[in-house]
Order: sequence, then structure tokens, then C-alpha cells
Amino acid sequence: MACKLSQKTISNVIKFHGHSCPGLRIGIRASELVRRELGDLPDARLVCIAETDMCGVDAVQYLTGCTYGKGNLVHRDYGKTAFTFFDRETGRGFRCLLRSGAREDMAEEMSSLQQKTASGEANEAEQARSKEFRRLMEERLMVSDLDQLFEVMEPNVAMPRNARILASLVCEACGEETMESRTRRFAGKTLCQPCFNKVEQKV
Ligand SMILES: [Zn+2]
Ligand SMILES: [Zn+2]
Repeated sequence: MACKLSQKTISNVIKFHGHSCPGLRIGIRASELVRRELGDLPDARLVCIAETDMCGVDAVQYLTGCTYGKGNLVHRDYGKTAFTFFDRETGRGFRCLLRSGAREDMAEEMSSLQQKTASGEANEAEQARSKEFRRLMEERLMVSDLDQLFEVMEPNVAMPRNARILASLVCEACGEETMESRTRRFAGKTLCQPCFNKVEQKV
């Protein structure tokens, strides 16, 4: 079934993200899946693991209320168009992965056109075609059935823990307070991540 969100909601998502693009549409549709699979949950009960940091994450943040600032959005930098959602109260969850076929037939010409456009080599006709491609792709993402777009499966990771441990330690190199869970030990010293990286490079 096509996207059921109102035009107003969609334009708010576009405003939040800053532009309209195919990636954003993927996030919009993934957010629709959340409602279908887990019901209409208050955002405090939801937690999302995003395996990408591309455009679509903005739609997920806006529509599901899973945000970096609240700590219920976790980024795992795997470079996959996949999202896992859990209901914290019941532990129920699912993972959705964008099917490669969702954009395959257009992907090749689209990416070569995009490269040309980006490097300024595209002529006017190619620029227009590139624009048209994006529009077609966005449209397709919005009208496709959710199961056509995504493979929906069981989560492949445990639900992230709720606790945000707020204890801080002072980095012994720069003196700045750092969340304990983000500190490293090196040669008997407690270091923040950037300071740890510096000494590690010297060794
Ligand atoms: Zn975008
Ligand atoms: Zn430091």
C-alpha cells in the first residue's frame, strides 16, 4: 500500500531534513513499518538502531521520536540501509532492510548521471534527466508496498540497554570531563577518546 501519511506531515519531514530526496522517503516508509509492526507507541518506549547515517535517519527521528539527543537512537556505522526497532516495554522488535531491487533498475544510470552532475560535466539534458530520475525514485518509494521495499525480519542484535550512565571521569591528558563509558585506559591513565587516539598513534 502507498504511504498513508498526510501531505502536511510529509512536508514537515522535508522541512526538518532541509530537502526532498529518495533517502528521506526510505526513512518515511521505515517509520510506517514501525507503526505496522509495533503499534502506535509513545516514543519513550521505542528504541532504534540505525545502520546508516544517511538522509533517511532524519525522517526516522522526526516521525518516530527516536532521536540522538534522547538516547533512543543508536547509530551502528555499517553502511547498510537497515533499521531495527524495539518496544522497550515488551522487548518485541524487528529489523527492516531495504531490498536491493527497490532501486536497482534505475541505480546504474542514476549514479553515473549523479557523478556527472556533481563534477559539473553534465549537460542540460543530463541534468534534467537526473532530476527526473530522483523524482521518479521518490515517487516509487512512496507508492510501493512496504513489503516490496523492505525485507522485515527478527532483530539480529539484543535490545540496547536503557541506562545512560552519567558518571564522568576526568581525562588525565586534557583534563576534560568525559562519560565514563567513553574513556580508555592507556599505560595506567584514564584518557578520553581523542587523547587516547593521539598517544596510540605515537606508539
Ligand atoms: Zn537528503
Ligand atoms: Zn583528553
